[in-house]
Amino acid sequence: MDALLIVDMLKDFIEPGAPLEVPQASDIVPNIKREIAKARACGAPVIYINDAHRDDDPEFCVWPRHAVRGTDGAKVVEEIAPLEGDPVIEKTSYSGFFGTDLEARLRTLGAKKLTITGVVTNICILYTAADALMRGFEVEIPEDCVAALNDEDHRFALKQIKSVLKPRQV
Ligand code: ZN
Repeated sequence: MDALLIVDMLKDFIEPGAPLEVPQASDIVPNIKREIAKARACGAPVIYINDAHRDDDPEFCVWPRHAVRGTDGAKVVEEIAPLEGDPVIEKTSYSGFFGTDLEARLRTLGAKKLTITGVVTNICILYTAADALMRGFEVEIPEDCVAALNDEDHRFALKQIKSVLKPRQV
């Protein structure tokens, strides 16, 4: 692993009763913690990629209002919150690469092998993984570190990633 990406592990996705609560999200928190420990042990950067929407974001026509920049719901859950110095990248769409400096940062760090974790498997994880692979990065997605709103979507996305995008390992 050259870099660990943690996608949208925000209160608005994780906490019980949150607007976009992912039912299995709290189960993956300890597994992501394990990956963070691994990354820190080998000196790999831990990069947070967080939704940070404007109050009138068009995404709210599709999804309930969530992760509005500056609100408590847009913060990473405390158990795996960023430490000082961890890069935190704000995004406004599904891919961590869209409209952000993620690619430039990874190139500067010399990171080629990315481990991607977080939510939602068939949305931000899928599109971030697709963008990473199309840019020539190697991608690893530990299955116990991602979750979706339901099992069918979760399985679809992992199958799509495995069979179409063909990362090194899922
Ligand atoms: Zn969003």
